[in-house]
Amino acid sequence: MRNFWAWAPPRPSAARPPPAAPPRPLRTHTALTRRVEPFEPIEPGHVRMYVCGMTVYDLCHIGHARMMVAFDVVYRWLRAQGWRVTYVRNITDIDDKIIKRALERGMSIRALTDEMIAAMHRDIGALGVLPPTHEPRATAYVPQMVDMIVQLQAKGLAYRAGSGDVDFAVRKFPGYGKLSGRSVDELRAGERVAVGDDKLDPLDFVLWKAAKPDEPSDARWDSPWGPGRPGWHIECSAMACALLGETFDLHGGGLDLQFPHHENEIAQSEGAHGVPFARTWMHNGFLNVDDEKMSKSLGNFFTIADVLRKVDGETLRLFMLRTHYRSPLNFADTLLDDARSALRRLYTALDGAALPPPDADEIAAPSIDGGGAALAGLDPAEACAPPAALAVLFELAAEVNRSRDVATARLLRTLGGTLGLLQQNPREFLQAGATLDEAAIAERIAARAAAKKARDFAGADRIRDELAAQGIVLQDSPQGTTWTTASRG
Ligand code: ZN
Repeated sequence: MRNFWAWAPPRPSAARPPPAAPPRPLRTHTALTRRVEPFEPIEPGHVRMYVCGMTVYDLCHIGHARMMVAFDVVYRWLRAQGWRVTYVRNITDIDDKIIKRALERGMSIRALTDEMIAAMHRDIGALGVLPPTHEPRATAYVPQMVDMIVQLQAKGLAYRAGSGDVDFAVRKFPGYGKLSGRSVDELRAGERVAVGDDKLDPLDFVLWKAAKPDEPSDARWDSPWGPGRPGWHIECSAMACALLGETFDLHGGGLDLQFPHHENEIAQSEGAHGVPFARTWMHNGFLNVDDEKMSKSLGNFFTIADVLRKVDGETLRLFMLRTHYRSPLNFADTLLDDARSALRRLYTALDGAALPPPDADEIAAPSIDGGGAALAGLDPAEACAPPAALAVLFELAAEVNRSRDVATARLLRTLGGTLGLLQQNPREFLQAGATLDEAAIAERIAARAAAKKARDFAGADRIRDELAAQGIVLQDSPQGTTWTTASRG
């Protein structure tokens, strides 16, 4: 049994400054050594963190949601240590896919990217993802990218290819492959990189793309190499340096970015500056749907907005946190239903204890201090392992159900806050299941009856499950189907 009772809930005190050092040593896994290691910020009390964000040409899918939620928890967790955190999550708003989509839709690049950024903020906001400290758009940092490419060229690490592009010479950078743990030759053999005729090595990658004649004018910038635009990898190196410095604490992103994107970021940044880039590298695992890779061609592709039509954002968030961030996460409707009832159990405990709404102090610092200390303290192997933290939440909820103790309920809510959970009014959350009006429920029941009559039993079951996910339980009898709202137990 974990001894979480040793930590008192935070005592409200607006005057008390956050602690300069974490109450317990924090550890994280880093891809550079493939081990869990102590985590200590370079500048005492201040963590600088960069995560590769979205390329904004379409809506975010649930794989993106996983990345956003995983690093939102890291951000909250580091703050819960009492540290100041500067969190940079970039936006790639210039890219081949963006240019193509803008042309298809007959709109400017700026109009398309503005639309997609607004949709992203709406979707991840519903998942409780906090805004980062900085959310730079790549197009606002092109001069910094050009400067960096000039530096690389001066050091002999970049060259002008026959196509007019400027490429990075991978063989000239001795540390290439250290993040993937493979040599240049192994990477070449394993990744089957395309052989471009004008590259010195197939692994060489583009730093500056020369403009093509048919590209729209808002897709090109001026440079020492003529009109063009930056390559994707240099965007992150330049933005990270501009906002966090040449060396910083933590770099994150999806596992699919480890090679080549992150390997290339290291080569560019360390090649240009001659100092280490990021000290700790964290990668979240892949997301599968019904145990298959999610893809449009398999018909199992879901945007965040698709899923939010079925369940609320907090349920989707809790569902994602039940899997360790480095493990593959399997998405399935039944697992979502399960997450929804789990979340209802937690809110039911808070509701039963009649916990008053958070006071101003709790709202100002919902996750600082006692709550964060408790979570960091229980952590068996490393920080940011939400499944272990969730287990504590359920133990606390069981205790609240037994004791109805307000202080324990407040601890539950505070600890939930470090994971971005349990910040809604419990009564409102529990009643949300019953917000479908009766006409809508009757319409769904009729649709289910019609599906059964047509022997579409899978379709009928789906309607029943969708209603159940919203707290509506159907009961069939010879007289027909009736419904009740799910019990709070
Ligand atoms: Zn990046």
